[in-house]
Amino acid sequence: MKGNFCPNCEEYTKVKLGVEKEVYNVRGEPIEIEAEVVICQECGEKVFDEKRDSSNLEKAYKVYRDKHNLLSPDEIRSIREKYGLSQRAVSRLLGCGEITIHRYENGAIQDNAHDNLLRSIADPKNMQRFFETNRDKLPTYTVARLEKRIASFMQEDREQAFQVSFERLVSHQHVDLTSGFKAYDLEKLENMILYLAKRLGGVLSVKLNKLLWYCDFLHFKETSLSISGSQYVRLQYGPVPKYYDFITDMMHNEGLVDKGEVVFNARKGVVGEEFTALVEPDKSLFTEKESQVMDFIADTFHEHTSTRIKEKSHREAAYKKCKDGDIISYEYAKELSLSLPG
Ligand SMILES: [Zn+2]
Repeated sequence: MKGNFCPNCEEYTKVKLGVEKEVYNVRGEPIEIEAEVVICQECGEKVFDEKRDSSNLEKAYKVYRDKHNLLSPDEIRSIREKYGLSQRAVSRLLGCGEITIHRYENGAIQDNAHDNLLRSIADPKNMQRFFETNRDKLPTYTVARLEKRIASFMQEDREQAFQVSFERLVSHQHVDLTSGFKAYDLEKLENMILYLAKRLGGVLSVKLNKLLWYCDFLHFKETSLSISGSQYVRLQYGPVPKYYDFITDMMHNEGLVDKGEVVFNARKGVVGEEFTALVEPDKSLFTEKESQVMDFIADTFHEHTSTRIKEKSHREAAYKKCKDGDIISYEYAKELSLSLPG
């Protein structure tokens, strides 16, 4: 091993690994662990190593958790995933700060009250009771979803199990240029759909998928981050969010959107699928800039037919530079034909 700076020798020296008993203070309680330490081979002094330091702390946290019989971060995560809730939705349900559950799942130690609560709602019967008393704390979107989830849990619905595994799958999507440097946020994507459908008073499915693309790409152009973290696939008829059909079907099943058939060219006998929002979007999910982008895109394309917006998207560099089936990189967002006014 090489590459650590030894303050004693005042230079980078060769180091070796060792094990030593160390006492960590976890919530005011001394916790002893077998810590991995890095030792300077020249002088024998311990050298600070960030990676080992945090893994030792993690180890101490684990000992503390076991001792007090607290849920592990993975257990907390799987309770949440069971109900298809985002970290943010669970935080709201528990009435704690927005990022509390995020912190717990990333290793922070939960307080006892939250631990008891989480443990209890792992059982759908308790979840139902808890939800009934707290439903007014939640946005209508989350209420609609959770209601459906709890009901299908009671019936051990198979679709539900499939849904949960889907959410697990997308939660592991890479955060890179294909996602607009954002972690996949299904809740946000679904609320973008509700937001656009509400603002437009119903929107055709073939138009909606391109509007989503324009929103995410324009937001990336402005801020170097997408809104939803969704990947977009180049298809023959335009850019489409990955898993789009699955997501809209699911929203339909959960009573979040209604699907209607609309004849938009009677002469040619062309019909389309129109979505209307059945619940209010949760606007608090969006930053001011994100709302501004969605409003701008909705208003810009308000009068556009699906065909016109398809043609416009086909002229975008992002579309021209990819082949059918490709994931469209957000790097092309800088060449987007639209910019936010002002
Ligand atoms: Zn040294």
